[in-house]
Amino acid sequence: MDKKKNKGKKKEIDRKTVVRREKMILVAIVGILIMVGAFFVIRLLNPVSEEAFSEEESSGEELNVGAETEESPVPRPDLDVQLLTVNEYSRPEIPTDTITGIVVHYTANPGSTAQENRDYFESLKDSHETKVSSNFIVGLEGEIIQCIPTSEIAYASNSRNSDTVSIECCHPDETGEFTEATYDSLMHLTAFLCGKFGLTADSVIRHYDVTGKDCPKYFVEHEDAWLQFKADVAAYLEEYGV
Ligand SMILES: [Zn+2]
Repeated sequence: MDKKKNKGKKKEIDRKTVVRREKMILVAIVGILIMVGAFFVIRLLNPVSEEAFSEEESSGEELNVGAETEESPVPRPDLDVQLLTVNEYSRPEIPTDTITGIVVHYTANPGSTAQENRDYFESLKDSHETKVSSNFIVGLEGEIIQCIPTSEIAYASNSRNSDTVSIECCHPDETGEFTEATYDSLMHLTAFLCGKFGLTADSVIRHYDVTGKDCPKYFVEHEDAWLQFKADVAAYLEEYGV
């Protein structure tokens, strides 16, 4: 008799346990549903949040950009950062040595824009036509496109690729003379880079000074204009105490 009674009690306890467990599971499911629902409601009420996220992402990308946000006593000019795809023809992703100079070039392609020159460098990854590129390109309107971080070499200045930063400049005609807008942007960018790498205007050179090539043409053929450019960079640096 006692045993039977016990069995009956045990069954009742088992049933209670099962009911309690079922209740707990139900509560958990309802809880999860409420949380999922709340999540979607918050998402619906805040459509901006996703935009804010992508904005954050893109500004993160800009921070990455050749570390050009690193401090220089000279204000950074506006840079249109369009880094080339890493490839062995224009952006080999080889780290530079310590930067000891800034090299000025001209495109030797009258009337071409900064964007066209940048796109040409980019196209080399497919055409394999030649190995050429530049860290920066200054356009006819003074716009500056950055193609390669200054921490990586560009294929521009031959034996000085590894310890210089290269700047290509667009020009409207065969004389190779820069527009005023190009000249001003080149001057600001050069001064900014001098400040960033602790250099003076004496470290600013022409491609000509490396290889004897007629580049940048106008500054090779007009030594006085070249000296004036370096003096302008020096004066600008002085304004910022460099
Ligand atoms: Zn050159």
